[in-house]
Amino acid sequence: MNSNHNSALMISVSGIRGVIGSALTPGNALDFVQAYAAFLKQSSPKPTVLLARDTRPSGEMMRHATIAALMAAGCKIVELGIVSTPTLQYAIPRLGADGAICITASHNPVEWNALKFFQPSGMYLDKAQGEQVIALYHAKNFNCGSWADMGSLETDTSSIEAHLEKIMSLVDVEKIRTRKFKVVLDGCCGAGATISPLLLERLGCETTVINGELTGIFPHNPEPLNENLTQLANAVKMHGADIGFAHDADADRVAIATDEGELIGEDYSLVWGVAHVLKNRQKGPVVTNLSTTRAVETLAAQYGVECFRTPVGDANVSGKMKEIGAAIGGEGNGGVIWPEMQLGRDGIAAIALMLEFLAVEGKSASEIDAELPRYAILKTTHEFPKERVPQLIQWLKSKEKGATVDERDGLRLSFADGTWIHVRSSGTEPIVRLILEAETMEKALRVQKTFREEIESLAGAW
Ligand code: MG
Repeated sequence: MNSNHNSALMISVSGIRGVIGSALTPGNALDFVQAYAAFLKQSSPKPTVLLARDTRPSGEMMRHATIAALMAAGCKIVELGIVSTPTLQYAIPRLGADGAICITASHNPVEWNALKFFQPSGMYLDKAQGEQVIALYHAKNFNCGSWADMGSLETDTSSIEAHLEKIMSLVDVEKIRTRKFKVVLDGCCGAGATISPLLLERLGCETTVINGELTGIFPHNPEPLNENLTQLANAVKMHGADIGFAHDADADRVAIATDEGELIGEDYSLVWGVAHVLKNRQKGPVVTNLSTTRAVETLAAQYGVECFRTPVGDANVSGKMKEIGAAIGGEGNGGVIWPEMQLGRDGIAAIALMLEFLAVEGKSASEIDAELPRYAILKTTHEFPKERVPQLIQWLKSKEKGATVDERDGLRLSFADGTWIHVRSSGTEPIVRLILEAETMEKALRVQKTFREEIESLAGAW
């Protein structure tokens, strides 16, 4: 990616993100946290705000800026330290907080950091709430309290244990322990390394942890894509493990390697979760985003439940899941949302769910994977001027008669043979994402070539 893409601060309804030093600074972090505090103070004069961060070295600087802003606004800060995003989310309603901030750039490399904001329920801010925070940020009308109005800072060390206990209460622990699974975990030197090794130990697994140090110096790109996980695949084979798991830096996501060392792809974590929940736990509707494999739909049809699609983003998927009372949902980025646990992507709870799947079925990971529906999905990004995206969408639409059109998040075309294509613009970067899926890789590559050429010619046509 071109370095000039990284110079702008990316502002979205779930928070801000940027490269430390060029886009994200203590100054704009301070402003944005003050905006969030002002938003919380509309409903509570002295809000309690939980604070957590991942392992990246800039987290300490961001932590100080965040604490300064919250104290100036008179908030009661309860700091959880370095914990995963789902660990923080589970703590929000449990501790009765009014909100929470996670300092993490999730799957982005070490030079990035970000602030994510949450509701009292533990869910991300919804669109309307996020827009209020953005408006307050741009208005920059913040009040710093007098000496007598300063907020306070305390520490809570219960969040990891509470999260573990909740997960253990949900799965069939004895059944999992009986199998004595050999597991490799790639913690990516991120926040997941604080909790997932403990979970695996309690589930009776013989665990090899790679990249378990909490340095935040990521040994590979933290996005849990196959191309970043060769170390995991090799370790699974070397140790003769039953399964391997890899987290991103804040462990809301998880990817799977089978006992044969095959990386099944980040979409298939959700496919596994859907298959297990619908077959062995609870029948109910399923929700995923517009960019995720239709294997999710195939499974929903197989078990006679509805499958809903939403625009991309945890808040969109979780919001729909809450509305319809979904049994399971998530996103094709390794994000499994299991509502019995909580309404947010939880890569740690997902590990327990996957191990329960293996234990209940009495099969190996590769046997389970072979039985699940599989299609060929391809994902690429293309440089494209942001202001021309609406024209691109219109043009692609005019070219594709006969397809079912969904325009809720960019453009998604689905064809009668099951092939689908989703074109969407990145939040603030001048790129478009092209995600498509077909029955076979040969067909997927053919479709990709057509659309790629169209996008590239349009990018240069103005
Ligand atoms: Mg993440």
